[in-house]
Amino acid sequence: MQIVDAIKNAQLQLVESDSARLDTEILLCSVLKCERTHLYTCPEQNLSSAEINSFNELIGQRNEGHPIAHLIQEKEFWSLGLKVTTDTLIPRPETEVLVEAALNYIPKESSYSVLELGTGTGAISIAIASDRQLANITATDIKESALQVAQLNAKSHQLNNITFEKADWFDIKNINTYDLIVSNPPYISINDPHLRQGDVRFEPESALVSGKEGLDDLGIIIVGAIKHLNTNGWLLLEHGYQQGNAVRQLLKENNFSTISTLKDYSNLDRVSIGQWIS
Ligand code: GLN
Repeated sequence: MQIVDAIKNAQLQLVESDSARLDTEILLCSVLKCERTHLYTCPEQNLSSAEINSFNELIGQRNEGHPIAHLIQEKEFWSLGLKVTTDTLIPRPETEVLVEAALNYIPKESSYSVLELGTGTGAISIAIASDRQLANITATDIKESALQVAQLNAKSHQLNNITFEKADWFDIKNINTYDLIVSNPPYISINDPHLRQGDVRFEPESALVSGKEGLDDLGIIIVGAIKHLNTNGWLLLEHGYQQGNAVRQLLKENNFSTISTLKDYSNLDRVSIGQWIS
């Protein structure tokens, strides 16, 4: 079978996906270990039976709903290729808003201590570390399996300024105070029907769900950050698009100053920020 026919057949099979053509091309590229342009420059290349089998298996899994990032075990974030497994949240483009905001506060020319809570693939810390070589970053996760992925990702991008620690939020062995704390914690309500649709069905619930309102972990982090921020330090939190008011309120109740909310690329509330002046 030639590349062009394999694509045509697979595209027809992917009835559940609204990006069947793109999915097909990405999966075929992962089997052939090639760039997408190759599919167009060599459409008549014949596939071996091993390649056809691997490709069919991936298409079958995609049809069951498995996320593309899990099937190819990779996701791009902040223009960095990151390894992804079923133990971690798949990095989302909107989380780049959180990174961009954090970079606004972290100086380029001097050291700055940063704590990331719940690092998953390491996406946020790795993006920050790659743009701020002098930042001193601690990244935690409660799951050892996630930390292993994050460590591998940091290593593959040759970043030496991140220390990884297994910890349940602020229950950190070598706890310190920090200039900036950043987190994309779980923030989906346990009752949200989206949890039964699309990619999230295959992601760890522990990275997604946080109580009835989705605010339990955001609340724990806001309260805990008070004791672990240096004077004038910043807390930056990703949250759900309907949680901007609630998160700003929590920051206010806990005496944070300079509170603001940033929108994501879809113009929805996504990141709230507070400063700890004390
Ligand atoms: N942004 C993710 C989603 O809506 C949720 C990530 C999270 O809970 N931190 O699927």
